[in-house]
Amino acid sequence: MPDLYIDGTWRGPLDEGTREIRCPADGSLVGVVDEAGGKDTVEAVAAARRAFDEGPWPTTPAADRGDLLLRVADLLVRDKDALARAESLDTGKRLVESEYDIDDIANCFRYFGRLAAAETGRVIETGTPSVDSRVVYEPVGVCGLITPWNYPLLQTAWKVAPALAAGNTFVLKPSELTPHTAIHLMRLLEEAGVPPGVANLVLGAGPEAGAPLADHPDVDLLSFTGGLGTGRGLMAAAAGTVKKVALELGGKNPNIVFADADFETAVDMALTAVFLHSGQVCSAGARLLVEDTLHDRFVDELVRRASGIRLGGPFDESAQTGPLISAAHRAKVEAYVAKGLAEGAVLRCGGARPTGPGLDRGFYYPPTVLDECSGDMSVVQEESFGPVLTVERFSGEAEAVRLANDTVYGLAGAVFSTDGAKAQRVAARLRVGTVWINDYHPYVPQAEWGGFKQSGLGRELGPSGLAEYREAKHIWRNTDPSPQGWFA
Ligand code: NAD
Repeated sequence: MPDLYIDGTWRGPLDEGTREIRCPADGSLVGVVDEAGGKDTVEAVAAARRAFDEGPWPTTPAADRGDLLLRVADLLVRDKDALARAESLDTGKRLVESEYDIDDIANCFRYFGRLAAAETGRVIETGTPSVDSRVVYEPVGVCGLITPWNYPLLQTAWKVAPALAAGNTFVLKPSELTPHTAIHLMRLLEEAGVPPGVANLVLGAGPEAGAPLADHPDVDLLSFTGGLGTGRGLMAAAAGTVKKVALELGGKNPNIVFADADFETAVDMALTAVFLHSGQVCSAGARLLVEDTLHDRFVDELVRRASGIRLGGPFDESAQTGPLISAAHRAKVEAYVAKGLAEGAVLRCGGARPTGPGLDRGFYYPPTVLDECSGDMSVVQEESFGPVLTVERFSGEAEAVRLANDTVYGLAGAVFSTDGAKAQRVAARLRVGTVWINDYHPYVPQAEWGGFKQSGLGRELGPSGLAEYREAKHIWRNTDPSPQGWFA
């Protein structure tokens, strides 16, 4: 069956092309999918444009759009096992993590389904009885949605659900490395009754299948999640048509541990912060800032436990984390570690490809701790997006804040301390979109998600996640018009 979904029809690419998808855990063939080129994307944009300009979707009552999203949530739950398995095969991540993701994804559709009808506009009191003034919310139009491979369906849901809730039409271009759950989602949208042309899917490489979504004049909004460099290029490409642009980019997130932190909790969470999903998490706590007086004891224990983390494939129940997404990505992570060591970091664990049954067939890289790092090192400043923790020392609140804020990124960060007032003071001064205090990684759809500084533009999730996908229109109606006489 063909894999591109355009104007309510499943079809292959105009110029024949396919891509083999292989599981990063062992290189086994997961599937062969159609690969679109720019021409397919342009057709998908035309279908989305027609569906927006002529179709029923943008003017469908918001409550009905919300009901449809709730149906999609139910279908996601129904297909949870198949979706989780597909996500694990494409990404190599542990099945249990994919299962969490599918629950999150269903919740995301539920959240935006309920929000769709919750806020439909407001009346403005002008004080003039003959005037009726109100603000209504309308969809932006055709949305180009481009998503990465680390949380493929979750990142897609964070865009598709609010885009549909607000009444937009869209063209989705998921990562070429992890297409299967996006294909499955489109089948569920079709089953739930999304009208033809509203939801369109193109698969393929970014520069070919994705690029037209940034500069095409019929695309009104570009929502992108991915790397900083790609985001910069897309923002520039979108400037020619002054699109609305939403960007969720990378992070180099500081995890600050004060000497008065609860030791066991802080060590445990520092491990989760950076090694979950082998560090391929935008909010990963990849920079550990630890107070000088605690440093030696803390890092010794962290290294001891990091060295024992078990690697394995998605269905290996003893595995604690999985492989990296590709050979190219592993090479990038290795290059960052090599550069860090050349710049003076001290390797405390990891740093070389693991050996052991099955590990040589996948793109594995072990949890790696680089100690005695400083802010001028590229491994501290740039996102390696792998299981690599850099450790810096600090002394006192002011230095912790200064080091924490000293990168171009501003996605997330954490503070560990038993002094509540100190933790709040530091949290208030971190230039990041999410701060956890004595915790790491949890998020709720009700709260905004997004970055300060070069981690992004706009917010996903939360009520303002919907705001990204709609325009506020002020309608002023004079109910008793008469000549004003200015130029009589
Ligand atoms: P990437 O930038 O390489 O690719 C992301 C998407 O953009 C893919 O679909 C890719 O095909 C597409 N793309 C690439 N070049 C393109 C081009 N020229 N035109 C159009 N599309 C193009 O990122 P990645 O490696 O897939 O994902 C990892 C990055 O994503 C990390 O930097 C991570 O921090 C970031 N991320 C951020 C968040 C967040 O919420 N802020 C969440 C997840 C991932």
